[in-house]
Amino acid sequence: MRPTEDKHRHQGLRKKLVDQLRSNGITNEQVLAAIGQVPRHFFLDSAFDDIAYENRAFPIGEGQTISQPYTVAYQTQLLEVKRFDKVLEVGTGSAYQAVVLALLGVQVYTIERQRKLFDLTKQFKWLQSQPRIKFFYGDGFEGLPTFAPFDKILITAAAPHIPPKLVAQLKPGGVMVLPVGEGEMQQMCRVTHEEKGNLRIERFEQFSFVPMLTGKES
Ligand code: SAH
Repeated sequence: MRPTEDKHRHQGLRKKLVDQLRSNGITNEQVLAAIGQVPRHFFLDSAFDDIAYENRAFPIGEGQTISQPYTVAYQTQLLEVKRFDKVLEVGTGSAYQAVVLALLGVQVYTIERQRKLFDLTKQFKWLQSQPRIKFFYGDGFEGLPTFAPFDKILITAAAPHIPPKLVAQLKPGGVMVLPVGEGEMQQMCRVTHEEKGNLRIERFEQFSFVPMLTGKES
């Protein structure tokens, strides 16, 4: 069962989490404010109620995880979103990251390859009250050609390489943030599709994500 009440205690724990992220080097105050607003315990089973605001990843079923808050903050900060940006997220998972993006005023298109996780987000009542998020069931390697181009793309699973079809769905000047690598650790990369058509790749810290897999799972 999912909790539905956001108590004073949760709000206090959230504030502590934000302070921790700030001391871990997250500097974008808008990103921190968004994390401070999202009731992370709503995204987890009530068994996690006491630990939902610890800075760690948790299982959400189907062998998948809700990302660590530091990772969510780090990726969101690198994406440098602006209000009204059109953003594609690959790997909806719990939808926590999608809500953080939506709170920054962007239009979120999020795609998940696991039917069960996609169905869970459809049944998540609180989520339906969140504006500016559209959910899709499909393979993120393909992106969403019908809705392209996007200002930004965020991949929240470990990509074996920079997916070419996603690069093609970025606007000129568009930016994609993704962890790249097939080993246990991956390197966070920011790819800018420069106006002239070439790609600029910047490399950041190492992280550990679940793998980005091809095809859909029913
Ligand atoms: N953003 C999520 C974290 C998800 S973990 C959150 O905030 O909770 C990574 C997710 O990516 C998993 O749910 C996994 O099923 C999904 N995934 C992996 N490969 C994918 C692909 N090719 N297309 C879409 N989703 C994918």
